Amino acid sequence: MNVIYLNHSGFLVETENKVLVFDYYSQGGRFDFFNPQHFIGKDIVFFVSHNHNDHFDARILDWAERVSYVVSDETRLSSDFQGEVLYVKPHEVYQFRGMEIETLLSNDEGVAFVVEADDKMIYHAGDLNWWHWNGESKEFNDEIAKSYQEEIQQIKGRQIDVAFVPADLRLEDKYCWATDYFMQEVGAAAVFPMHFWGRFDVCEMLKEKPYGDKIHNITKENQKFTF
Ligand SMILES: [Zn+2]
Repeated sequence: MNVIYLNHSGFLVETENKVLVFDYYSQGGRFDFFNPQHFIGKDIVFFVSHNHNDHFDARILDWAERVSYVVSDETRLSSDFQGEVLYVKPHEVYQFRGMEIETLLSNDEGVAFVVEADDKMIYHAGDLNWWHWNGESKEFNDEIAKSYQEEIQQIKGRQIDVAFVPADLRLEDKYCWATDYFMQEVGAAAVFPMHFWGRFDVCEMLKEKPYGDKIHNITKENQKFTF
């Protein structure tokens, strides 16, 4: 399979028959990371985990004739939008275009996705993260820990092929807690850090971890990984 890092939490996953694009984001208005013409004969599906503008760029809707959409329920598209859309709520399982799509509840907004396509299992966290902020109250941080752990426990035992997990250095020394816990409880054959606001060095930092051999080292936008 191929994985292309687009920007921020935006990734393209290419399997045998499908192209899955998660949380497309083009920082600075550039819009050249994706072109349906590059994937003739493949079924293209865009996933939108939630409504925030660093996860949802409405210009993806311009490709409605060629692609379909899986969109978190609170991200309502305009009623005259003609494309094929599956709206998803947390804690549900959907069958859509030959895929099984399971959703978790994000502790920020919207959902996280577990998608089985072409016998590959893909986890994309959206904004489900261990949002431990050093300056926050103990109550806040305890609640965040609980909500994150409860969601990850729901997918314990899955054989995840590729996982996209937030590693946000604004959380200072706690940036890695989401990945640490995910790798301890679930694990994945390949892991891509995301939501790192251009701080590519976070990949090198995670490579120092005991699970570091699973971490893919992203160094630039539009970088392609084949494995
Ligand atoms: Zn975000």
